[in-house]
Amino acid sequence: MPDHDVAIVGAGPVGLLLGCLLAARGIDVAVFEAREGVDDRSRAIGIHPPGQAALDAAGIGAQVGEEALALDGGEVICDGRVLASLSFDRRRVLILPQHRTDALLRQRLSRLREGALNQGRRVTRVHEEGDVARLSFEDAPDITASFVVAADGVRSGIRRQLGIGWRQRPGSGWYAMVDLPGTGVEPRAQLHCERDGLVESFPLADGGRRWVVSDPRRALGEATAFSSAIRGRTGIRLELPGGMQPTLFRAGQHRATRLVAGRIVLLGDAAHETSPIGGQGMNLGWAAAVRLAPALERSLRRRHPDFTDYERRTLRAAARAQRRSFFYMTMGRPARGPALFARNVLIRTLGTRPLRPRAADMITMRGG
Ligand SMILES: Cc1cc2nc3c(=O)[nH]c(=O)nc-3n(C[C@H](O)[C@H](O)[C@H](O)COP(=O)(O)OP(=O)(O)OC[C@H]3O[C@@H](n4cnc5c(N)ncnc54)[C@H](O)[C@@H]3O)c2cc1C
Repeated sequence: MPDHDVAIVGAGPVGLLLGCLLAARGIDVAVFEAREGVDDRSRAIGIHPPGQAALDAAGIGAQVGEEALALDGGEVICDGRVLASLSFDRRRVLILPQHRTDALLRQRLSRLREGALNQGRRVTRVHEEGDVARLSFEDAPDITASFVVAADGVRSGIRRQLGIGWRQRPGSGWYAMVDLPGTGVEPRAQLHCERDGLVESFPLADGGRRWVVSDPRRALGEATAFSSAIRGRTGIRLELPGGMQPTLFRAGQHRATRLVAGRIVLLGDAAHETSPIGGQGMNLGWAAAVRLAPALERSLRRRHPDFTDYERRTLRAAARAQRRSFFYMTMGRPARGPALFARNVLIRTLGTRPLRPRAADMITMRGG
């Protein structure tokens, strides 16, 4: 008899959400997380309708809805002119910092299955052994499970250990970002697609705003350079509080060549990396977790891995999201002359009344 039905490696938002879905089905699930404490890095804020459906399924949709800010829509701007203005009233986007969503998921998991989350437990190896999978740890005895889900993030050690390929997809670049407290403006997003590159500004749930600036030369990781890039591109004067430094991050896109190796399944960023431009990665992982939970239940019942449909649909959804992110990144590239003119015509066309609902559907991840 294995120690657990399912072992999940990684308690990021995706591993935690899957843990909740399985525990709610009465499945004996254990989640192993290398970190001792919480991950308070500024990462995801946008929760799209497929992510909201996943949070509902995990039982925390209402709580997230109460804490989050509902984004009304946004404008695409160039040279001080609004090229397109979209409304999300049909499909709202919620804004909540990832560390807060993680905390709600952790609470929910411990309510559903006390002791399911094991922190400070780095998994060093996973391998199949007859009818079970065996997990080895840095400083603890091995355990076994009927199935293992690797939700260990974009640098997944398990993916590497299994020899699964990691194929680069189009769309990469450097960006600088700050979450600026209390600027108290309306709950709309502003995307400045300027000749010198992208400046994005999103409202935050605490009344502040997140500013993201494309930074191909990696020169904007310092407060003054960051503010003057925003002023140069958009005319907006931004004061960063003393001591606040922008975070630099590299956006990239990859997909695993397969998601299943017998009893071991890849999930979340371990399976697909999607550029943060467009804010889809966490939502995509959650939607995949919603597909994986019944596949795991079925596989446990039949005592045989049955993940073909999960793999096919998840890779297809990832490809779709990566195409969208690539499009957003392309719209934000520096451009001049005829290229800038053509791009602005395209954005204006997408913002016309007949196409506006389609554009809003694309931004809010309709179809997963
Ligand atoms: C700046 C930025 C903004 C973003 N904005 C958005 C957004 O608005 N919307 C959106 O949907 N997405 C967004 N994303 C993407 C989102 O943050 C990721 O897609 C999401 O965190 C992936 O979750 P995950 O659980 O798959 O992986 P992770 O969050 O990376 O979690 C993996 C976990 O596994 C643990 N781990 C790793 N190896 C081991 C091991 N061997 N043993 C045990 N534990 C292990 C790690 O410690 C970590 O806690 C953004 C990303 C960035 C960088």
